[in-house]
Amino acid sequence: MTNGITLLDALAQTLGADAILHSEADLAGYIEDWRGRYKGPALCVALPGDTRQVSEIVRLCREHGTPVLPQGGNTSLCGGAVPAAEGRPPVIVNLSRMRRIRRVDAANNSMEVEAGCVLAAVQAAAAAEGRLYPVSLGAEGSCQIGGTIATNAGGTGVLRYGNTRDNVLGLEVVLPDGAIWNGLTALRKNNTGYDLKHLFIGAEGTMGIVTAAVLKLHPLPTAHAVAWLAPESPQAALDILGLFQRACGSRLSAFEMIDSNQLDVVMAHVPGRKNPLADAHPWHVLVELSDTGDDAALQDLLQRILEQASERGLLRDAVVANSGAQRAALWEVRHSVSEGNKKAGVGLTTDTAVPVSAVPRFIDEATQAVRRLVPGLPVLIVAHLGDGNVHFIPFFTFDAWNALPGRDAMAASLRRAVNDVADALGGTFSAEHGVGRSSLAEMAHYKSPVELAMMRAVKQAFDPDHLFNPGRLLP
Ligand code: FAD
Repeated sequence: MTNGITLLDALAQTLGADAILHSEADLAGYIEDWRGRYKGPALCVALPGDTRQVSEIVRLCREHGTPVLPQGGNTSLCGGAVPAAEGRPPVIVNLSRMRRIRRVDAANNSMEVEAGCVLAAVQAAAAAEGRLYPVSLGAEGSCQIGGTIATNAGGTGVLRYGNTRDNVLGLEVVLPDGAIWNGLTALRKNNTGYDLKHLFIGAEGTMGIVTAAVLKLHPLPTAHAVAWLAPESPQAALDILGLFQRACGSRLSAFEMIDSNQLDVVMAHVPGRKNPLADAHPWHVLVELSDTGDDAALQDLLQRILEQASERGLLRDAVVANSGAQRAALWEVRHSVSEGNKKAGVGLTTDTAVPVSAVPRFIDEATQAVRRLVPGLPVLIVAHLGDGNVHFIPFFTFDAWNALPGRDAMAASLRRAVNDVADALGGTFSAEHGVGRSSLAEMAHYKSPVELAMMRAVKQAFDPDHLFNPGRLLP
């Protein structure tokens, strides 16, 4: 309470009562994460309609010393977007009402959007102008641009287009003191000092609230060729990747690998999904080529590379999609892994990246490492192989998980064992999901004291009261 008025009352007066949710029923969808693993109390959810209102919320929270938790689509896979069970309940600032596409500038290959725009809506608005916004991931129907920026999201297009950081030209941010920074430049060259937008990309809401962004667009591909392959092994998959890179250059737009355990989970738990190939195989790759022009030339190129791979003994089987519907069906299998895993049991998802050339060794050594801890434990592999990002998932059925003695400690040990293997190969424990709450211990363990000190100094300069997303990102 400040000057006799509660923060809730002040927020309701400023934003209007309909923009403040605080009943238990209204809060339910905002205070628990997608997988039901993290949950904590919030003072309320504020739903601002514009940047000025975001700034007012932040100023009021600051006056009352109340933490601020920025939230987008709440699809975080590391517990980053919901309150902690302990500590002072925050005000959740959910950006879903700020979903205006402000402008598409086709000639400049850019678009300006509000942070609450759902990623799929941004892709569609770009496509309507013959342009591509290339960040693409399984949660694109619900995650927001602001959330993808705050987590520097990756996904399936990184191989060709880079991650979110590579596709942001400018930002508008409300800082922890309530000031609004208008950095909405649409320039591709601007060497005028520190490039401040990068401080907010991947900051997971610890440095301010992203309210709008200028995004980089690309020509919309009109030709596609997609195939589902069964390589002999992860090393064979890498060799096939090399064949594609040599022959296709930047036309190679995705190269995704899953193992048979992961495919089995998808087929068993997601209705309508089946093995695209006639027989069972240990490894599966989805490859996509895209370009301007028409499909025929790309399909020919794809077929030629598959023949080469087959002649070299790298490939057990392959099927090429012959229509848009078949392409979509192959992608649906790939995009169903999170849904399947959620229904099938408890997956201890890791988010490692290693140099692409080290992926086969990583998979081998990480499998041995987890099986030393839990003999025979099934592992699921989902890899954005083209950029070395492997979701290596030690997996328990619900029954096995419930029967596991000391399971939290065991989960931590299994993750650490996998991350140690990645670290020894020059890798990281978080390639694209971020740190959130689930990887705080890994931050403390793997980041050097010098790097942590620099991060803390930056945080201190922007948020000296530590009100923004406390308990996330920085241990
Ligand atoms: P939230 O989950 O709401 O928030 C994530 C973090 O960003 C939190 O720390 C939050 O405080 C902060 N934040 C949110 N909005 C703002 C804002 N406007 N300003 C400042 N901070 C903000 N991720 C990948 O990288 N690649 C994938 O392939 C991928 N696949 C996924 C598939 C599924 C099925 C699911 C459920 C998730 C997947 N994710 C993936 C994770 C997730 O979708 C991404 O991290 C996404 O970028 C989060 O966006 P969001 O809007 O849901 O953010």
